[in-house]
Amino acid sequence: MLKSQHIVYIGLGSNLENPVDQINSARLAINHLQDVQESAFSSLYRSAPMGPKDQPDYINAVLAIQTSLEPLDLLRKLQQIENQHGRIRKNQRWGARTLDLDILLYGNQQIDHSDLQVPHYGMADRAFVLYPLQEIAPELDIPGMGELADLLTNMPSDGLEKIDL
Ligand code: ATP
Ligand code: MG
Ligand code: MG
Repeated sequence: MLKSQHIVYIGLGSNLENPVDQINSARLAINHLQDVQESAFSSLYRSAPMGPKDQPDYINAVLAIQTSLEPLDLLRKLQQIENQHGRIRKNQRWGARTLDLDILLYGNQQIDHSDLQVPHYGMADRAFVLYPLQEIAPELDIPGMGELADLLTNMPSDGLEKIDL
């Protein structure tokens, strides 16, 4: 039997150890997961750090995939990829990291699990998520949060810089 396919949006971020390389390598690793196919990848963006300011700027992007993986399976696989990229979890919230992979949206599902909240709780307030997302999915309606286009009208691009490579 064919497993049902879901469109999933993943937010990628890095601010250590060659962030551009980290993001590109993470994209490849996600593409190599079984039962995952890429459907779109945004430009890369440079953003000022959220939280502690004494850390380098971030590189961010958003990746869209088609997958039959269940949400928690996908989360575990993304966490393995974070670990393979040298992610060290410290107590400081929003501290510097080699790689962060957040599940932004999983189809139009709303998930409230102790390890996984979808849509990602912070996405509506984060320019470094909304702008790259708009690039690849301008018509998106985010469950419980509304139209992406409406969220963007209240969202200054504050310092977010699209990178031409
Ligand atoms: P933020 O979530 O505010 O962006 P962060 O990405 O730095 O912060 P992490 O340390 O990467 O936070 O993750 C902390 C926990 O968040 C993880 O252990 C994971 O179980 C949980 N989590 C909840 N919802 C999600 C989601 N949608 N995507 C990824 N992780 C999530
Ligand atoms: Mg995050
Ligand atoms: Mg995270």
